[in-house]
Amino acid sequence: MLLLLLFIVGLVFGSFYHLIALRVPKGESILFPGSHCPECGHRLKSHELIPLFSFAMQQGKCRHCFSSIPLTSPAAELSTGILFVISPLIVGWKPELFLALTLASMLIIISFSDLEYMIIPNKILIPFFLLIFFFRIFVPLTPWWNSLTGSVFCFALLYIINLASNGKIGMGDVKLFAVIGLATGLKTTLLSFYLSALFGSVFAVLGLLSGSLNKKTAVPFAPFIALGTLVSYFWGESIITLYEGTLFNINQIEGMFL
Ligand SMILES: [Zn+2]
Repeated sequence: MLLLLLFIVGLVFGSFYHLIALRVPKGESILFPGSHCPECGHRLKSHELIPLFSFAMQQGKCRHCFSSIPLTSPAAELSTGILFVISPLIVGWKPELFLALTLASMLIIISFSDLEYMIIPNKILIPFFLLIFFFRIFVPLTPWWNSLTGSVFCFALLYIINLASNGKIGMGDVKLFAVIGLATGLKTTLLSFYLSALFGSVFAVLGLLSGSLNKKTAVPFAPFIALGTLVSYFWGESIITLYEGTLFNINQIEGMFL
């Protein structure tokens, strides 16, 4: 029952996150005007604002002009709903749960903003950076400076990749990793990076093979970072243990810095 409630709360938050992701990069207010159809401007009434349900009832179309509502809207709602349910199941009912939900929320917002505009706005990163910074003062990682090393080292690593890739990995991604490092520490963030690169590459190879991508298509990286980070944050310890004794040994890499 509690999980069902969390799922519904997640759907509502997801709907709001989708709105933030679409409006903040354009410099629009997130409160006014209320939600409206992007095509005809029809203001949504309360019964048209129920996450997922309204989308399904209206078969993905605006009631007024019948233009289709982008699929990203229910996708954001559903993914937030799912993350709100699995977070307490994995993290448990303790203060860390707040960080899990905060991290998941940020990753959802920047993913949809990157998908829509290829931008990860500072206006979203900075508030989350501050929120996570203060949270980690009260609920630190062990050792506490792991947040600091994670943030600084991963920022530097991504910055070098940004320079080396001629900006293909954008500065938004670089700054995002500074926030992820702060939240999850060095080891987990290195794994996040590895997994996001892996997921991104698999996607690119499949896209090239199927012909739906060509070499010049710009692919937003944030959704892969989001996926890599969540997998690493939730299941990182087991993955790292699995790789112990191989070339890709994160414990050893971490040992060089801590
Ligand atoms: Zn419309």
